[in-house]
Parts: sequence; structure tokens; C-alpha cells
Amino acid sequence: MSSEEKRFFRRKVIAGVEHRRDPLFGSWTRINPDRARRVKHTGETSRGTELAKLIESSRETCPFCPGKRDQETPVFHADLISSKRLKRNESVLFPNKSPFGEYHGVGILTNAHYVPMEEYKEQTIEDSLLLTQEYFHAVHRKDSSACFPVYVWNFLPPSAGSIVHPHIQVLLESRPAPIIEVLTRKCRRWHEERGEEFWTTLVREEREQDDRVICEREDAVVVASFAPRGFREILLLLPGSGSLADLDGGQVKAFSRALVRLLEAYQAMGVGSFNLVSYSAPLETASPAFPFHARIISRPYPRGIYTNDTGFFERMYDLWIIDTLPEEIAREARPFFSAPSSS
Ligand SMILES: [Zn+2]
Repeated sequence: MSSEEKRFFRRKVIAGVEHRRDPLFGSWTRINPDRARRVKHTGETSRGTELAKLIESSRETCPFCPGKRDQETPVFHADLISSKRLKRNESVLFPNKSPFGEYHGVGILTNAHYVPMEEYKEQTIEDSLLLTQEYFHAVHRKDSSACFPVYVWNFLPPSAGSIVHPHIQVLLESRPAPIIEVLTRKCRRWHEERGEEFWTTLVREEREQDDRVICEREDAVVVASFAPRGFREILLLLPGSGSLADLDGGQVKAFSRALVRLLEAYQAMGVGSFNLVSYSAPLETASPAFPFHARIISRPYPRGIYTNDTGFFERMYDLWIIDTLPEEIAREARPFFSAPSSS
């Protein structure tokens, strides 16, 4: 193996395009910041106006607004969970009407029909995570084969979110998603071959480079991904944690604090839509090889007709084309972690 191949962060520039290899998965990302400046025959319309119209036009028929949700959202089977819906402050969790997985639930985050990204409170995220944990454990008590937790947040339609009202989706499945399976295998092999957990190596290498670290604390590390699979991709890692279902109160707070600041940073960058995806070990298994982490990526701004951010390479070729440098994202996000949080 050449010294270049042994390097943790592998990058090379070919014809003005930077190719980066993900240190764990081995997948390749191509970054060309010039693409952000290319001519697009869409996007000339005013941003805020269309979003404001979407918020208002969806309000009247929203099934998640207080007053409607008790009539329009499904309830749990009494033999699974005795209450119709789980509740904690403004968070409400119930079965998904159109599931695509096992024990697929939906969690409403707020009573408000729309909350701008920069106005989310740490308490809102905390309530949602604690309620999700309650749901996971209730399901697992009835069906011990369901043990792989998923927590995802699609923010507005460009992220594939069909309902404007703030909500997350949760699943507890008997089989891991393919990426979780690969992640588990690769993390185990990394440890066997090098005698160190991948995540320990990652944090050390990022610290040494210092141009993608947004925040490093004992309880949470936030880094712009070296080889992103999505625009403005940011990793949020809770070192030493186990499954999402078993995070303790301090870990839930650390995650909520970091996420609220990331949303403020995204808003400042002009982001209008995002996906948050979680990566969790199975319930009741704590392995240092697989700490709980999440990734957030931006999606196109919500407006009528836009140029999609995902093309043939991403959909069918397993190649990721990105037009913003991770180092630039880290530079823009960092200030939001040095100031006291607004919530
Ligand atoms: Zn609503």
C-alpha cells in the first residue's frame, strides 16, 4: 500500500475537480465549488414569498395542528401502547398513516404550524428525543425482535417532507438499514485491524487538521464531513454513547444543544430545507465501536421549480457531487457554537 493510500484523508484533484475518499466507507465524493455558480434556469423567483405562501396555504388543512390532530392522526393499538398517542409537553407521537417500515411512528414537534429554523428551542428537541425513547422501549417490551432505532427529520417538501408542520419520523425495526449493517461491519474491522475505534481516529485526525471541526466537547463533536454525500453535510457525534434508545439525559441535552445551533447556522447560510438522519446501534447494546451519531444535509430552497441537488450520479452510480467545500461550511457554522445559545 502506498503512503498516499494509507492516509486517513485521501484527496486528489483531477481536471479542477477535487476527489475525496470517505475514510470509513471508501466511497468517493467529487467537489467542484464552481458548480454553485453555474447558470440555472430556475430560482429567479423571490425565496421568502413562496415559502410564506406554502406555510399559509397548508395551515387550514394541516392534520398536525392542535384541534385537528386528535381527529386526523392514527392511534396506537391498545395491546402495543395503552394511550392513544404518546405526549410530552408539545411533542406528540403516534403511528404513521402511510408506513414504510416496522413500528413506523410520526412525532409532532410543536403546536406551531411552522417554526423557522433559527427559532427551535433545545427543549423542543429534548422532548422529542425523550418521547421517542419512551416509544422505542414500549415497542421493544412487546416485541423484542424490534431493536434497530431510526430517527429522521425531513424539513419541508424539498427534503421529501410532505407536511409543513414540524415533525420527525421514528422506526424500530427488526433488521438494520443496509448502511447500518455496513457501518457496523466496517467499524468492527477498523478496530480489529488498528486496535483503535474508528471514531477515536476520526476525531483525532480532524483535530489535527482543524479546518472542518465546528465544535469539540467531551459530550458532542460537530464536524463538516470530509467526503460529504449531501450539500453542507455535518456530522454530530456523541462520543462514548450507545443506542439512541439508551442515551442518558446528559447525552440527549448535548445532542439537542448542538442541533439547535446547527439549525441557526443553516439559516444563516440561507438553507431552507434539510434532512437529519440518525445512525444508531441496536437498543440495549452499548459498543464503543458504534457511538450514536447523526448527519444533517441541506436540500434545495422551497420554491416552485428548482434545480434538484441530486442527479444521476447520486441516484444510480453511488457517487456524490458536491458544490461547497466542507472547510467553508465549518468556517460559517463555527461562530454559532462559540456564542451562548438563544434558547
Ligand atoms: Zn399545522
